[in-house]
Amino acid sequence: GIKQSNSDDLKESTSEKNNTRQTVEEIKEDVKATRRSLPIYKTRSDLLRTIRENQVIVIIGETGSGKTTQLAQYIYEDGFCNNGKMIGCTQPRRVAAMSVAKRVATEMDVKLGEEVGYSIRFEDQTSSGTKIKFMTDGILLRETLLDNSLDKYSCIIIDEAHERSLNTDVLLGLFKTLLTERRDLKLIITSATMNAQKFSNFFGNAPQFTIPGRTFPVKVIYSKYPVDDYVDAAVTEAVRIHLSTPITSGDILIFMTGQEDIETAADSVKEKLLNVYMKKYGISTFDEINDIEILQIYSALPANIQNKIFQKYLNENKRKIVIATNIAETSLTIDGIRYVIDCGYSKLKVYNPKIGLDSLTITPIALTNAIQRSGRAGRTGPGVAYRLYTEETSEDDMYPQAIPEIQRTNLSNTVLLLKSLDVDDVLKFPFLDPPPLQTLLTSLYELWFNEAIDNKGVLTPLGRQIAKFPLQPSLSKILLISSQNGCSEEMVTIVSLLSVPQVFYRPKERQEESDMARKRFFISESDHLTLLNVYSQWKSNNYSSQWCQKHFLQYKSLVRAADIRSQLLTVMERQGIEVVSSGSDWNIIRKCICYGFSQQAAKISGLGKYVHLRTGMDVHLHPTSALYGLGDLPSYVVYHELLMTTKEYICCVTSVDPFWLMDSGFLLYDIRRSKEIKEDKNGMFGGYSNEDEETEIKDDLDFKVENCL
Ligand code: ADP
Ligand code: MG
Repeated sequence: GIKQSNSDDLKESTSEKNNTRQTVEEIKEDVKATRRSLPIYKTRSDLLRTIRENQVIVIIGETGSGKTTQLAQYIYEDGFCNNGKMIGCTQPRRVAAMSVAKRVATEMDVKLGEEVGYSIRFEDQTSSGTKIKFMTDGILLRETLLDNSLDKYSCIIIDEAHERSLNTDVLLGLFKTLLTERRDLKLIITSATMNAQKFSNFFGNAPQFTIPGRTFPVKVIYSKYPVDDYVDAAVTEAVRIHLSTPITSGDILIFMTGQEDIETAADSVKEKLLNVYMKKYGISTFDEINDIEILQIYSALPANIQNKIFQKYLNENKRKIVIATNIAETSLTIDGIRYVIDCGYSKLKVYNPKIGLDSLTITPIALTNAIQRSGRAGRTGPGVAYRLYTEETSEDDMYPQAIPEIQRTNLSNTVLLLKSLDVDDVLKFPFLDPPPLQTLLTSLYELWFNEAIDNKGVLTPLGRQIAKFPLQPSLSKILLISSQNGCSEEMVTIVSLLSVPQVFYRPKERQEESDMARKRFFISESDHLTLLNVYSQWKSNNYSSQWCQKHFLQYKSLVRAADIRSQLLTVMERQGIEVVSSGSDWNIIRKCICYGFSQQAAKISGLGKYVHLRTGMDVHLHPTSALYGLGDLPSYVVYHELLMTTKEYICCVTSVDPFWLMDSGFLLYDIRRSKEIKEDKNGMFGGYSNEDEETEIKDDLDFKVENCL
């Protein structure tokens, strides 16, 4: 039977249908046995000795060897927390930080949030008794702002360093000086087999410790012809594998690029299998199929669903098809995978410093990624990897190694952070791989434009305040501006709503109905105000979930926004930033949004079409915008986000008065007075009315960034 246990994980796995039930004692024994069976276990004493004898070490091991789940525990057991300090372990991904903390809490048989906890942006699951803290690398970076010497920690594990996330790279650079100041602080860098030498070199030939692997051969099968539609190809392959091999031969892992193609693939696999099973067994719904479970992993997935990924099916008559982003490449290990299907792409943030735009783009993976992906099939026995691209593609078109994030992303936030940490000359910062000069310069320019740094590149008081918020600089700035303009109460709501996934719910089967529901919230001058309106109405309806359901709103997103809101209010309070309401004057809010986003302004150029004022790029107003509610679309707008799909769309848009743009961006925008000659002809004051002048100015507000660089 099921005994009381303090771990949700245990409860879930014991009560799952189709499972032979295990007692809590059995599960605990199982957990212990699993720990002992991991490759890292055999190296435990050697490993601990090397750690004791060196300040920095690089640990290399195949994915699944036990680095993430075991290392922190070993060090803890070895007494590293006896001095009252903590062990910190960073992950590039939020999902990994949460999931690993849960696992380690289970293994140590403690309640999550007590001895073992995690912290990710806007979510802190730690307490004063926390000894082992998992967190995103971004969180540790912010902690260095509060405490430069990271005094709380006796040991930091920078996990998944081979991923080369931006924050990891910056942390490594900071550690170069920190380690000389704090001789008692240990740094452990873990890496999959690729890239390890680089870390060792960076820290003066730090010793490398390799955990002997345990892998089985994986047969790689390339597609013979280039694939048109990788989702379709992956689905076909998965269904074929499932129908032509015994279930006991292993589970299937499909690599896709993101939530959208993962969901499409999952639906499509279900549909195809249901068709086959209908003919074979006469069943009518997918739920009746009990030998297969389709699981999805991507970063926005709720935690309770993520847990299912690790479930073991004790009756062995069920096969998992896991559809995941590149998170399953190295950060999460799913046992039992024997078939891998690799679409050959991943979603990457790509930055164009010339136009100053970041976009998430589907990009071919690098060879090292392809090898990692295939390797996932060979952990428990020999496996097969189906690559949905030709061998020629992999040889000719793929980079040997992925480009580190620092070289392909906007660095404004990073530069601001470095400046707050008194790194005056960011161009001389010890980067593992230096970012492109152009990117650094654009970031400096952006900060200067936002008055976060002065003409000499020194952080201004405003810049210091901006850096205190866990937000992108423009959103922090908008909060500060709104406080000065008497509408921070409203703005903090808007900013919180911009920090959560989509608030409006648009199910495939009820699109029209949900679009109608959305329209009822429209404030036609502004999508930002529309969001504010949603929140206010939700509040008036006692934050009700039924009310959300009725109006096609995502209750969870709103709850999260409310949570973020209260956290931002705390930061504001600590910073002495006043929270004031503008009452019913919503124009002042639009004005502040304009001030905050004056760099992201566009001017109308056709039906639903705008041209980006700074870059001259053509953009389109997103079809869901509230601005379509206006008779004529506004001449000038600012937007929150640029979305690149089939077209370039501007999303979350607010109509603005061009004079506001001039006020805020006097460095960028100017009036071209082409009719001044006419003015002369008609005498000093005669000529045209004010209204004419306004039209004139609207038409010719122009971008003059070249003038001020
Ligand atoms: P590495 O960091 O070296 O890639 P991990 O420590 O992440 O290895 O994984 C070690 C083992 O622990 C793997 O077999 C993995 O499947 C298992 N594991 C990790 N997280 C969980 C979890 N939440 N539930 C069950 N097993 C897990
Ligand atoms: Mg790991």
